[in-house]
Amino acid sequence: MKATDLTSFELFNNVPLELINSVLANCSVYTIPAGQHLIKKDVKNSALYLLLEGEVQIYLEEDKPLRIIWAGDVIGEISLIDQQSATASAISLVECKVIMINEPLVWSLVEQSHLFAINLLRLMAGRFRGVNSQVVSSLKKQRLFEHKALVDDLTQLYNRAWLNENFTTLLDRCKKDRQPFCYFMIDIDHFKKINDTYGHQVGDFVLQLTANTLDTLSRTGDAVVRYGGEEIAMLLPNTDINDALRIAERARQSIEDKNIEYEPDKTLKITVSIGVSSLTHSESSIDLIRYADEALYYAKAHGRNQVKFKDYGP
Ligand code: GH3
Ligand code: MG
Ligand code: MG
Repeated sequence: MKATDLTSFELFNNVPLELINSVLANCSVYTIPAGQHLIKKDVKNSALYLLLEGEVQIYLEEDKPLRIIWAGDVIGEISLIDQQSATASAISLVECKVIMINEPLVWSLVEQSHLFAINLLRLMAGRFRGVNSQVVSSLKKQRLFEHKALVDDLTQLYNRAWLNENFTTLLDRCKKDRQPFCYFMIDIDHFKKINDTYGHQVGDFVLQLTANTLDTLSRTGDAVVRYGGEEIAMLLPNTDINDALRIAERARQSIEDKNIEYEPDKTLKITVSIGVSSLTHSESSIDLIRYADEALYYAKAHGRNQVKFKDYGP
C-alpha cells in the first residue's frame, strides 16, 4: 500500500505524505473475514481502525444493530480518546480491509499534524450528528407510542387509560383550589339499532362524528374521553353545575339537530343521553363516574335524548 492510496480518505485529507508514510511503516493493513469483531462492547479498545474496504455493523446491544460503517470511516475513536471501554461492538459484515493505528501513534499524529486532528474531529462530529438524528427520530417514535397509548384510534379522543391516569389529578387540583368540577357520561341512544340498520361502518362513522361534535363544543381545559363502546365522558374542571348543565344541553341539542350524511344524499339522525355529576364535597373520581352513570341510567329510563343531573352530595 502506498501513501497516495490513503490521501483520498477523510482521515488523511491534506496530511503530509511523509507522515502518512510513517503511518504505513508503523501499522498493519489487515484483511478481516465477515462476521469478526473489530471492537467488543465493554472491552477496552486501544486502536483506531480506518476502514479501507467493506462494511462494519455497529451494535449497541446484541441483536440490536445501530448503524453500518462504510469504507472511509473510522472505528474505535471514542473509546480510544476517552480511554474507556467500548460502548458498542463492531462486527465486519463482509470481508473488510482495515488499517489499525495504535493509540501512541494516533496521539503522535495529532501532535504532528493539526490537519490530522481536524480530520479526526470532523469524522467524530459526523458521528455525533448521526447519533443526534437517531435520538430525535427515536424520541419522535416514543411520542407517537405515547400518543397511541393514550388516544383512541377511531375517535381521536383520549382513551380510558388517559382517564385512569389523569382524572384524579385534575379533580384534586380543583379540590385544592376550591374550584368546581363537573363530569358527563354521554351515551348514544339506541346505537345498536344504528349498527343493525346501517351496518357497523356507519356506526363507526356516527361515533366519530359524535366524538368530533363533543370535542368541538369543549373548552380549553375540558377533556373529552372515549370511555368505552359508544360512551363518551367529559371532564369539566373549574365549571359549576349551572354552566355544566348549559354545556350538556347545548351538546345534546347540537347532536339532535345534526343530519348525518352517511352516504351521498342519505342522512340519519341520532340522539344522546347525558348523565351529569358534580363535585359538591369531596367526591372521588369513582364517585363522580358512578353518579353520572346513575343520572344517565335515569335519563335512559325516562325517554332518552335528555340531560339528567342528580345531586348526590350530603
Ligand atoms: P341505549 O339507548 O340504551 O344506550 O341503547 P344502545 O343500543 O345504544 O345500548 P347498548 O349499550 O345495548 O348498545 C351499544 C352498542 O354499541 C353495542 C355495540 O355493538 C355498539 N358499539 C360499541 N362500540 C362500538 C364501535 O366502536 N363501533 C360501532 N359501530 N359500534 C359499537
Ligand atoms: Mg352504552
Ligand atoms: Mg347507547
